Amino acid sequence: MDRPARPIWIRNAMLVDPAVGNGEPARADILVRDGKIAAIGPAATAFRVPDDAEIFDASALIAIPGLVNAHYHSHDALLKGAFNVMSLERWAVRALPRYFPPRSDRELRLRTLIGAAECLRGGITTVQDMLSLWPLTSRQAAIVRDTYRETGLRVVLGLQLADTGPLDTIPFLRDILPAELAAIVAGPPPPPDMPAPLAELERILADLPAQSGDRVTWAVCPSSPERCSRGLLLRLLDIARAYAVRLFSHVAISRVEAVGAHTIFKDHGGSPIRYLDSLGALGPDLTLAHGVWLDDDDARLLAGSGTRLVMNPISNLKTRNGIAPYRLYANKGVRPGLGCDNCSCSDAQNMFQAMKLSVLLAGIAGRSDDVPGARDCLRAATADGARALGLENTGRLGVGFSADITFLDRDDPVYRPLNDATRQIVYGEAGRGVSAVMVDGRFVVRDRKLLTIDEDALADELAELMPAVLRDAEAVRARAERLDPYLAEAEARSWAVDIGMTRMACE
Ligand SMILES: [Zn+2]
Repeated sequence: MDRPARPIWIRNAMLVDPAVGNGEPARADILVRDGKIAAIGPAATAFRVPDDAEIFDASALIAIPGLVNAHYHSHDALLKGAFNVMSLERWAVRALPRYFPPRSDRELRLRTLIGAAECLRGGITTVQDMLSLWPLTSRQAAIVRDTYRETGLRVVLGLQLADTGPLDTIPFLRDILPAELAAIVAGPPPPPDMPAPLAELERILADLPAQSGDRVTWAVCPSSPERCSRGLLLRLLDIARAYAVRLFSHVAISRVEAVGAHTIFKDHGGSPIRYLDSLGALGPDLTLAHGVWLDDDDARLLAGSGTRLVMNPISNLKTRNGIAPYRLYANKGVRPGLGCDNCSCSDAQNMFQAMKLSVLLAGIAGRSDDVPGARDCLRAATADGARALGLENTGRLGVGFSADITFLDRDDPVYRPLNDATRQIVYGEAGRGVSAVMVDGRFVVRDRKLLTIDEDALADELAELMPAVLRDAEAVRARAERLDPYLAEAEARSWAVDIGMTRMACE
């Protein structure tokens, strides 16, 4: 997808950017050229408009920086609506690619497209896709990359790796699981012709010189400090540094993980953050998703090292993980981004839901009044999310920044009367108002229509594909159900362990 040759003159928009000035809305014109915001001014008189500029009348629109979905997985985009609320541990054995047969190239393409379509239609201009391919092949990774390129979305595409299974990460499970069920929790054996994952990862990264200026860039994703052996983690750190790409990982998601951490990281006070610190992994090139069960010392280490964090309030509720300590992070200067996480445990790629929930949950996570407000939250979904992805020139409506802009319909009832634009975006908008979306200086949504994906054709293709996907999902669910009593028991035993911290509403 190429950038338009002509500059675009956005006229008379109401700009709302939490990272600029006092965050108050301001009427302005924006000149977009070569994918960047070339000029911003109170009116056209403030800068010279090229004669050949295309005019976009934004007088009835609110312009915000494009939303950054800083933690997402496209691999289960076809499983939205598949599950009710359940623990992370029981959800994982039903949803993760490791438990499914290898997927076809066509399925990869279609799920990437439908995920991208939902993001773009929802005003999301950038995602970090932490992709699990089973088996991991550079050929299928390239299919996902090429599909993203068609969509116009900005993507930091990371490949997720792990070598340690639930028997070694879920406390008590090994003691209680009958031997005949161990194979289910481990997942099917790898295909005999499966290439070595690290060699495949390096094959992909060797392609890097081609990506300068590309909207789709690569990253390396150790699944979590528990799910990777020390050897794998160190190897992935080396690879990321050798290829100068970012690292993304999960950390401290569920209470069961928090209990497990006390054993797994016992040499580090039970803290995965202190363990990562001991490996030299912390720093601005590492982004950690979730961080629900971290404490003050962990937050201090994250802030001091510049390690980035991404909160995922919706999936944390749906998989019963608890409430991330947003106010603790805000107070320590961590400045987290926000993500929508898996389609099968948040069901919607909707940053408005993520914003609203994160700020409301922060309000009930403690009694003091130092609660983040709407502006902090919109900033988490834009500039701070971009920062969490290492995209320092994205996420703001400023001269020289990428022209990634989301336009909201100011005539929507949610903005009438318009008392406070930022608060009405965070507390009122649900996505209905997204009218136009620009990424890299090009409109990908205009008049609510997605321009880069034929949505009707995609719907037809999905309808054809889904019976086979659902058959496989049903077989996975039936196998996973046999694990439920043992996972429930391991969870109950974990819950009985006092870890001196609470992130649940019911403790
Ligand atoms: Zn995740």
